[in-house]
Amino acid sequence: MPDAIESSEAMSAASGNSKVVLQKTLKASIGCTGIGLHSGKKVAMSLNPAAPDTGIVFHRSDLEGTDRIIPARWDHVVDTRMATTIGNESGACVSTVEHLMAALAGCGIDNAIIEIDGAEVPVMDGSSAPFIFLVECAGMVEQASPRKAIKIEQPIEVGDAEKFVSATPDETFSVAFEIDFEDAAVARQHLSMRLVNGTFKTEIARARTFGFVHEVDALRKAGLALGGSLDNAVVISGDTILNGDGLRYEDEFVRHKILDCVGDLYLAGAPIIGQIDALRSGHALNNQFLISLFANEDAWSYVEMSNAAVPGVSHSWDQESELAIA
Ligand SMILES: [Zn+2]
Repeated sequence: MPDAIESSEAMSAASGNSKVVLQKTLKASIGCTGIGLHSGKKVAMSLNPAAPDTGIVFHRSDLEGTDRIIPARWDHVVDTRMATTIGNESGACVSTVEHLMAALAGCGIDNAIIEIDGAEVPVMDGSSAPFIFLVECAGMVEQASPRKAIKIEQPIEVGDAEKFVSATPDETFSVAFEIDFEDAAVARQHLSMRLVNGTFKTEIARARTFGFVHEVDALRKAGLALGGSLDNAVVISGDTILNGDGLRYEDEFVRHKILDCVGDLYLAGAPIIGQIDALRSGHALNNQFLISLFANEDAWSYVEMSNAAVPGVSHSWDQESELAIA
């Protein structure tokens, strides 16, 4: 990994109190195998270091004679049914990228090449935690380029009164999410989190994807959820959680929706600085939000991140929790 350097003290020391935040990549390559949640197919995947300003890029190692490179960006999203799928002009695709993207967002990884020998990211346990474990095992290094962020400059919203995603200017990245399901085991859950300074891992990353027994037949007829099981999803039947060990968080469902939102929004290509509010959003609306954001030049600007913009971790545990992302 010749492009990754251990650190750049010159840049770190450049600006006094507001220390420049540098881009990060993995210190070494690391791999895993697993099955796709929707395809049910076994895949091998590795996370690899990449040069500054590469972004997150997927590389379909199983394809030959075609363009195998798929940038993990909002303008490469080709399907949002039940998961986020990205693709390139040659038709090469990778689906269910959101839980991995959330882990990379949570770890602050800017640049990585994701090698994968199939068309769907392995679901692992249905959360982002196994990917964070991989990143931590590989280690991270700073690179000699400042980290760019997308700062929300004006309020922007997509959706309607029933379902929406909005962003408003703020000094940090936070997500407030509300879900409202008929099923009693999920019902209405709301959580607001300030995602700075490191608690994505403890408060969001372990929240698993979830599904309803009454939807399984229809999903499988549509070729979806073929790899889904109690090993990689919370399965709900009415007011009952079928997983023997129950939930990982009391409000695991809304936490997983925040996880999905963090992952989908990391397809912006850089971290967002602003307050995200979402009601009953999913992959399609999350992507529409980014399309709308990038179509509206007045709504955002690129800024170089400095740690002066990252306040100390604050916790308020009454109605809302203010938490942190690494
Ligand atoms: Zn998910």
